[in-house]
This record gives sequence, C-alpha cells and structure tokens, in this order.
Amino acid sequence: MQDTAATRKIAMVTGASAGIGKATALLLAQNGFDLILGARRREALTTVANEARAHGSTVWEGPLDVTDKASATAFVREAAAAMNRIDILVNNAGLARGVTYIAEQDNEDEWQEMLDTNLMGLLRMTRLVVPLMIQNGYGHIVNLGSTAGHDAYAGGSVYCATKFGVRAITSALRQELLGKPIRVTSVDPGMVETDFSRVRYNGDEAKAGAVYAGITPLTAEDIADTIVYAVTRKAHVNLDTIIMRPIQQGPNGTVFRTPSL
Ligand code: NAP
Repeated sequence: MQDTAATRKIAMVTGASAGIGKATALLLAQNGFDLILGARRREALTTVANEARAHGSTVWEGPLDVTDKASATAFVREAAAAMNRIDILVNNAGLARGVTYIAEQDNEDEWQEMLDTNLMGLLRMTRLVVPLMIQNGYGHIVNLGSTAGHDAYAGGSVYCATKFGVRAITSALRQELLGKPIRVTSVDPGMVETDFSRVRYNGDEAKAGAVYAGITPLTAEDIADTIVYAVTRKAHVNLDTIIMRPIQQGPNGTVFRTPSL
C-alpha cells in the first residue's frame, strides 16, 4: 500500500453482496483493509464477509437499504460503534430499471427506485459518514458514477440523470471538503458484466446477455482494482474522476461488437 498514514484502514462498502461491491470488498480484504459491509440480501452478504475474513480482515456486516433513512442511520451508527472509525466509504449501491423512452414510461416506480437508490441513497450515506471522517481527521469517499453520467442515451434518461447527479454531488462535495483531509473520487465505468443488466431487465437473461454480446466487457474485478488503486495513493493525492471502458466501447454509445460466426 502507498498510503501508510495508519495501519489497517477501515472501508465501508455499500451494496457489497454482489458485483462491483463484492469484488471491491474482497480486493480490499486482500490488500489489508478491515471492512464494513452492507446490502439488503443478508445471505449473499455473509458469504462475501466470510470470504473477506478468510483473507484476514476484521469484518462488520449489517443489513442496509440505502433508500431507507432508518436503515442507513442504524447501519452507520452500529458500524461506527463496532469498528470505531470509517476511513473509506465506497458508495456503490445502485441500479438501473428498464430501458424505456420517457413518453412510453407508465411505471413511475422504476424512476423513483433509481432516484431513491442512486441519488438519495448515496447522499444519505455521505451525509451520515462525512461528519465521522471530519471528527477522525481522515477520510476518502469513492462514488460509483458511470459513463452514463457523461453521455445520456435514449431509454436511459433517469438512470443517466442519476449518474449525472452523482457527478454533481462528487464535484460539490470535493469543494465542500477542501481544506479537510478527506478525498473524494468518482469511478465512472462503462460496460461491466455483473448482475446489473439482469436487474435492469428484471431477470430477462436473453436481454441481459445481449448487452455484452460480441464484446469483452469490464469485470467487477477491473473496477475493484481501480478503486483499490485510488484509495491506496499517498494521502495528498486525490484522483478526481476515473472514466473506464472496455476497449471495444467508445464514447457516446459507440460499441465495436465482434460478429458471431
Ligand atoms: P449489481 O451486480 O446488480 O450489484 C448491485 C449491488 O447494489 C448489490 O450488491 C445490491 O445488493 C446493491 N443494492 C441495490 N440496491 C440497494 C439498496 N437499496 N440498498 C443497499 N444496497 C443496494 O450491479 P453492479 O454492476 O455491481 O453495480 C454497482 C454500482 O456500479 C451501481 O452504482 C451501478 O450503477 C454502477 N455501475 C455499473 C455498471 C455496469 O455496467 N455494471 C457501469 C457503471 C456503473 P442487494 O440487492 O443485496 O441490496
């Protein structure tokens, strides 16, 4: 690790039961971090926590629904009491629902769920954790943005709006914390093959699989690798925004797909 200011830093990862959150938790464990892990699916979360423990980490795990103020508040309070500090917050919990044109959307619940999770959830977790970091004199917030926060696409208006919003929050927070020893980073991936598309298409495997057809997408481990890199720089180095795409994905929705034989 590059940053040796304190031994065994404690990282909180939201949405640690699957995908990027899970991969990040496990790679942090392998790199000497202790962990605070939260998600709604308890069994999957415990499996991740036990795997991290096998790498030598002390892990506190708890139920977390970032859309629920009481759940998030209890999670942070209990985790801070059990682990004493929160050095790093990886604001990873997030989702997309559907690919639907605005004028054709008849299910506002999908919009609300994305807004509540990706924006309100991230804001809420940040609000709860930053004061503790200020008190402890150290902190690093890592937000999961997306390339969807840089270029919008038809059918993705609300998901893109949430990720444009994450960029705004990251930028404002960075300014609000200037002069304090707290770093703020946004990691903004393009296509990563996780459960993301399965969730987006409500379990439709054919639609989810088609997203990655003919390309080698990023993996959850690729994103975890970047997050671990960001949080292990020397304390005076702040990586502001990291945009990462698979080599076959360009800006503005361009994708080179290898034709199937
Ligand atoms: P994933 O495999 O579906 O994992 C999403 C995680 O978020 C799960 O652990 C889920 O856990 C958790 N989560 C969802 N709603 C939650 C809530 N209300 N409270 C707490 N946890 C919640 O998807 P992923 O690809 O890893 O996505 C992780 C983040 O990366 C998201 O913010 C996503 O927008 C972003 N991202 C993904 C991609 C991509 O292509 N995959 C690209 C750019 C950015 P539970 O269901 O157990 O709660």
